[in-house]
Amino acid sequence: MRPVVLCFSGLDPSGGAGLQADIESIGQAYAHAAVACTAITVQSSQAVFGFEAVSCELLKAQAIAVLDDLPVKAIKSGMLGTVDNINLLAELFRTGRIAPDTPFVLDPVLVANSGGSLGDKDTLVTAFKQLLPYATIITPNTHELRALAGLDDLHDCAKALNDAGVKAVLVKTSHDFDEGDIQQFLYIDGQIAHTSIITRLDGEFHGSGCSLASHIAGRLAMGDDLMSAVMRADDWIAKTLHHADTPHPNNPKAQLIPNRFYTTPYQR
Ligand code: PLP
Repeated sequence: MRPVVLCFSGLDPSGGAGLQADIESIGQAYAHAAVACTAITVQSSQAVFGFEAVSCELLKAQAIAVLDDLPVKAIKSGMLGTVDNINLLAELFRTGRIAPDTPFVLDPVLVANSGGSLGDKDTLVTAFKQLLPYATIITPNTHELRALAGLDDLHDCAKALNDAGVKAVLVKTSHDFDEGDIQQFLYIDGQIAHTSIITRLDGEFHGSGCSLASHIAGRLAMGDDLMSAVMRADDWIAKTLHHADTPHPNNPKAQLIPNRFYTTPYQR
């Protein structure tokens, strides 16, 4: 069967972010998404109204059911919601329940793009640190990157995460400025391996971070090396944003939803 990415992510009923974004983005990378659901959020494309996390026992049972059944070739985590759920994922790595060397894309979700909380930021940041040694690549926004590293300068932050065991760090400056081109840095083993300048599109997007991270996971599961996986995901996400759906056409500030079905899937 197609290589499987096991995702740990939350349900977003609007379908813009979370596990639906993961399923669609991984499918578009030609891999198969399996999902252990971490939380059910209550949100629209514009705002988070609340969430309820699943218990770590229930999360574990979901993950084991998949790990015992399917050829899991990569792991992707997004919203984990609670410290217990983060601890559980760390335990699956530590105990070898997730096979050693399985590529792991860590999207350290703390807050939605709309600004809504997806967990207690301070306790999650501390717990996330134990996942760093297992991560092949981490895809934080600049707020998450600074919170995890406890530093201000982005390059120092990336270096700190690398020192903590993360192989690669992918960071975009989109949230640091409101206008102007966006810079993206890919650090591998503590060095800048690739820099790109991305033209800023009008509007904010709901679920762009989840989509990028999970498409990278899909391509890693398919056997791409890190650089190729990121380059292909960059190219793909740009198209989904360019053709994003506009839920509120009369409100220029309303968030758009990436159209993950616009592009033709890659050929094997
Ligand atoms: N995971 C869930 C369940 C979410 O609801 C969100 C945002 O709303 C995210 C992750 C992060 O989304 P983004 O890709 O916009 O950073």
